[in-house]
Amino acid sequence: MNFLPLIEAKRDGAILTDAEIAEVVEGFTHGSIPDYQMASFLMAVFFRGLNPRETKALTLAMRDSGTKLNFPMDPRPLVDKHSTGGVGDKVSLPLAPLLACLGFRVPMISGRGLGITGGTLDKLESIPGFRTGLSETEIVDQVQRLGVAMGAQSATMVPADRLMYALRDVSGTVPSIPLITASILSKKLCESLDALVLDVKFGRAAFMQTKSQAVTLARTMSKLAGDCGVATLSILSPMDAPLGRSAGNWLEVRESVECLENRGPADLRALVVDCAAQLLVLTGGTISIASGRKLASDCLATRQPLAKWEAMLSAQGANLSAYRAKLAKGDNAAVIAEVPSPRNGIVRDVDARVIGEVVRDLGGGRLVKGAKVDFEVGIDALRQIGEIIRKGEPLARVHVSDKAASAHAVERVQAAFVVAVR
Ligand code: URA
Repeated sequence: MNFLPLIEAKRDGAILTDAEIAEVVEGFTHGSIPDYQMASFLMAVFFRGLNPRETKALTLAMRDSGTKLNFPMDPRPLVDKHSTGGVGDKVSLPLAPLLACLGFRVPMISGRGLGITGGTLDKLESIPGFRTGLSETEIVDQVQRLGVAMGAQSATMVPADRLMYALRDVSGTVPSIPLITASILSKKLCESLDALVLDVKFGRAAFMQTKSQAVTLARTMSKLAGDCGVATLSILSPMDAPLGRSAGNWLEVRESVECLENRGPADLRALVVDCAAQLLVLTGGTISIASGRKLASDCLATRQPLAKWEAMLSAQGANLSAYRAKLAKGDNAAVIAEVPSPRNGIVRDVDARVIGEVVRDLGGGRLVKGAKVDFEVGIDALRQIGEIIRKGEPLARVHVSDKAASAHAVERVQAAFVVAVR
């Protein structure tokens, strides 16, 4: 097939037909379109955009690149949440078992780290033995039995997104509204959901830098998902400073467990509870966001979601004693270095973009497609905006794999903070 005319057409601003878009998705998924041509096509879409019809065609072609999950009839609604990606954004980890305890079925198909933002799959894979590569039958069986499964799209589930996602990550084509819409919704539409909550981030560490771009993305996704039969609500959340106090795969699992233990950072807990409340309202489980928040908070306090989390880990192959030993051990990276505050003062700012870049550069994310991720590196004990600090006290701790990397990382993390004299 000669794919060049389609690249040139999009480069020059033409509107593609549904059949042409389906041809691109199919050709790339089956290997007849090489990475370099697809990267060029994605860049053309990045600059020229896709109209609503083209975006829908791309989403459906990606969804149909593989098989759909088929669930038996059941009174428990099928729900999911997806975030457009942030630094320290670990919401999915505590949220999925919480939703299962609230009476939902949660077939959560997640992604890997993209750009400077972390990915749920990378975080889960920092748990010894945990298997994200479930077959469709395994996902359906586990969701029916436990209420929750978290995994990757398999070779046969939305393979187009798996391949495109990895290519976008390394070709500068992530922050595109139609590409993000198609990527997220193709995965969600193949889960046969009743309801979906989208956490659309905006700010300097988000793919959407401004709130108005985030509103456009949220509207685009909610409208398309609704047209495809999935009741959808979007939460807009800021991503200028990291969410919670840690960024890095295993460190974020640790903080998620704190949330499931009904403690940990308030901002993380609030977002988890909010997502659950939105889904309760969308599915008629309660009448207001306020009552939904109360139901979700009360459920977290029972610690049943913690037990559900562990049940999910063992169902997906985790070695629970190794996992518990890893949690109990505390720090796992070879070197832990404190980042001292340069003065007495108040934390006025923490630049999540810099924090995300440091974690990625330490090996916690990818600079090239398919690169191996170091699960243990990252940053924790991050001080949050508004906190009072004394000179020399730690603004954060940097977890690195070797001593040589620590001084530079400490310097960069220190520069991410603004500590002002009170
Ligand atoms: N999450 C996804 O699944 N895809 C994107 O493109 C961005 C965030």
